[in-house]
Amino acid sequence: MATGRLIPAHLPTAEALAPADPLSLFGMAVGRVNQACAVLQAPEYIRAILGQPKNELMVNFPVLMDDGRYKIFKGYRIQHNNVLGPYKGGMRYHPEVSLDDVKALALWMTMKCALLQLPYGGAKGGVKVDPRALSGTELMRLTRRFTSALGGAIGPEHDIPAPDVGTNAAVMDWMMDTYVNTQGEAGRQGMKHVVTGKSLACGGSAGREKATGQGLYYVLAELLPEFQLPLAGLRFSLLGFGNVGSHTAMILQAHGAQLRAVADQSGALRSTRGIDAVELSAYAAHHGSIAGFVPRQDAGSLEAIERETFYRTPVDVFIPAALERMIDGAVAGWLDCKVMAEGGNGPATPEAAALLRQRGVAILPAILCNAGGVTVSYFEWVQNKAGSHWDLARVDAQLQQIIGGAARRVRQAAEQYGVDLETAAYCVAIAHLTNCYQARGIFP
Ligand code: NAD
Repeated sequence: MATGRLIPAHLPTAEALAPADPLSLFGMAVGRVNQACAVLQAPEYIRAILGQPKNELMVNFPVLMDDGRYKIFKGYRIQHNNVLGPYKGGMRYHPEVSLDDVKALALWMTMKCALLQLPYGGAKGGVKVDPRALSGTELMRLTRRFTSALGGAIGPEHDIPAPDVGTNAAVMDWMMDTYVNTQGEAGRQGMKHVVTGKSLACGGSAGREKATGQGLYYVLAELLPEFQLPLAGLRFSLLGFGNVGSHTAMILQAHGAQLRAVADQSGALRSTRGIDAVELSAYAAHHGSIAGFVPRQDAGSLEAIERETFYRTPVDVFIPAALERMIDGAVAGWLDCKVMAEGGNGPATPEAAALLRQRGVAILPAILCNAGGVTVSYFEWVQNKAGSHWDLARVDAQLQQIIGGAARRVRQAAEQYGVDLETAAYCVAIAHLTNCYQARGIFP
């Protein structure tokens, strides 16, 4: 009887498909996969399959601007892998969005979903645009045209977008509304689960907005004890104060930690007595950045600082929660922390990561630390399919269970293979994907 373990021997080798530039973001992501595959002694075909996305879609579409003219925008959707389930991943609106970066982000979604054992594959997409330069109506028209350009390439059981940098619940609501009114049996409202991260009014989940920060808190609660770092009194700094950064800061503060320094695109702030994360979040939400923030109390202790001073601020945990590759070799030399917990995706170059490890800094990897977002997205999808609603206590409890379990698997793999936590996280994810490929075989 066939065992389902018949893998064709003639698949192209990983080398034949390796991305040309190992220093590109995608090259960097594939490098990490290859490293873990070597530790696992994974079959060659796993490296070959994971070394390229399954589908790469690029669309150019016109949008009517408020001044009556049309502009053409470029959008992407990369579907990296779907062996575990439908493709899943965020949509980014940013002027620097590029094919290579989206490929890397899609690969990391595959890793993240496999590590968390969610029934999803990995995808990512976005539009090359500065959303802050658009009016609200332009943003809506751009989102609707982008969604219609993607057409049936996304779908509730096929590829499910979510928010990322530059997008939010309003963008997800427009995306969902456009899809259900243009695809399949148009107008049927049962397809809301085509998009997650929607507003509560449109079928979003309780706790989705803060989910990535909440997940990061659960990961820290699970892993920090082994570094003798209790959350009460923990000093931390944050690079990036958007969705991930601000929610992480507020949740850690609620558990007794203190925000010592924070930086965003507009500049950096420091206070040896701590910065009130709740007050700063309200300010940043209103003003779009941390620039010009003056606390209600103890304003004298807050100072605006240079970039280098920000990185050199002594803390227990440094949390990058901005864009990719912002921690380079120079920054790695400045950081004064015991742990770097990666809130954002791919924050450190391989050179920086190696230097930090050499300096004794533990790196808690992004595919674990920021997986709270996709986990609560999964809860939203499940709730939409079942027509049910979970309260916040249930969402948080299930998130803790899933992400806490993943953190323990990573710690165990690090011990088992004698590797750092980042390599261990990739090993856990790739082992899960390999088991699935070995059981399913490769079609036909
Ligand atoms: P966001 O747009 O809400 O915030 C991004 C932050 O980064 C802003 O504070 C911005 O000022 C800052 N920033 C941008 N360029 C900077 C620069 N040059 N110097 C300093 N700061 C800079 O984005 P987000 O949703 O918080 O995402 C942040 C990271 O987390 C990204 O890597 C994203 O892919 C990842 N992530 C987000 C989610 C989510 O649920 N939103 C989930 C998983 C991973």
